[in-house]
Amino acid sequence: LPIKHHGAEITIFSEMTALAQQFGAVNLSQGFPDDDIDEALKKFLAEGTNKNFNQYAPSFGFPALIENLITFNHARKNPIDFTASEITITPGASYGIYTALSAILEIGDEVIVLEPAYDSYIPSIEMNGAKPVLVSLNEDFLPDFEKIKAAITEKTKAILINSPHNPTGKIWRKEDFEKLYKLIKGTEIIVISDEVYDLITFDNAEFYSIFHHAELRHRSFAIFSFGKMFHLTGWKVGYVLACEELTKAFRKVHQYISFSVNTPAQYALAKYLEVFNPEKNQQYLQEKRDFFLAQFKDLPFTFKEKSEGSYFQIASYENISDLPDKEFCIWLTKEYHVATIPLCSFYQDQRNTGVIRFCFSKRPETILKAAENLRRLV
Ligand code: PMP
Ligand code: GLN
Repeated sequence: LPIKHHGAEITIFSEMTALAQQFGAVNLSQGFPDDDIDEALKKFLAEGTNKNFNQYAPSFGFPALIENLITFNHARKNPIDFTASEITITPGASYGIYTALSAILEIGDEVIVLEPAYDSYIPSIEMNGAKPVLVSLNEDFLPDFEKIKAAITEKTKAILINSPHNPTGKIWRKEDFEKLYKLIKGTEIIVISDEVYDLITFDNAEFYSIFHHAELRHRSFAIFSFGKMFHLTGWKVGYVLACEELTKAFRKVHQYISFSVNTPAQYALAKYLEVFNPEKNQQYLQEKRDFFLAQFKDLPFTFKEKSEGSYFQIASYENISDLPDKEFCIWLTKEYHVATIPLCSFYQDQRNTGVIRFCFSKRPETILKAAENLRRLV
């Protein structure tokens, strides 16, 4: 039948989670926390439905949630300021990225993607009739502006960026945003900035949003996810910031593909924002990263750098095996009962990288079990 074929048949996240289940492996592959969520969230969710917030929310978002997001972001150490006409609540961040692309892309447009890249970007560009133009990040997984410059053509409609970065945990510095601005200043290129790990940064690393940049904020979409913010990936709620003109375009598409987002969830998220403590949350995740690194210290993986942000840590395994990364991940799951993600999945050509990704947003007992399973490698 005449159907579209974009991206993998099954994403690596579904594939590795299924393999982990099949072999009873500790699942450090797909990025999701295995902790229970805060009881307050469950209470607010029940309250939302009991108070009868069970019908369609306004298309652009539940008003109390929008209001509380404005307040929350304004109160950040490095405030992100925006108005109610510059935000849309979405059913998750992947949807936000897809819809932002839909709002701007015409058939034949080009979108610059920096590899390694989250696996939904390229299919989302292609499903919108445009062409991904791939540019490698430098060896430290930061942008190489000379290479980006060389990739710009008259067809370049947008550039998709991501910081804190999945899978490497790298964070863009303030000067990276300035360099990006200098590069695209004379063009109409739009930036789609995936900022879903905005609140997960370590060792006092500063998070910069595209919305912090006085000029770039007027030509960008910034994408956020409550899944990462409040550790509830299954709720699938996020939000998108963009200037009024871009928000209008975004909302036009959104009203036809989802119209609105789960109302009791939006009620609960609004309530929870009033009690949420981002510093405590940050500390909680930093402890998880440090616990993971401490438990894995004597195992034969090489951690070139600690993750600066996100809940992922990359490692090379040259002291263990010379299998290609995907085969290594399958072997490790089957033989050592620990599932991870190969970095080849973040490259369109699926090249072997010799590097794998661990998700460390897990309970201490999960990390201990994984380390114990891998002890035989020593
Ligand atoms: N972007 C990145 C970089 C991610 O890691 C994720 C979550 N895995 C998403 C987008 C998608 O987030 P959501 O589940 O809210 O769609
Ligand atoms: N973003 C999560 C990760 O990187 C997975 C989300 C998904 O399963 N699509 O692991």
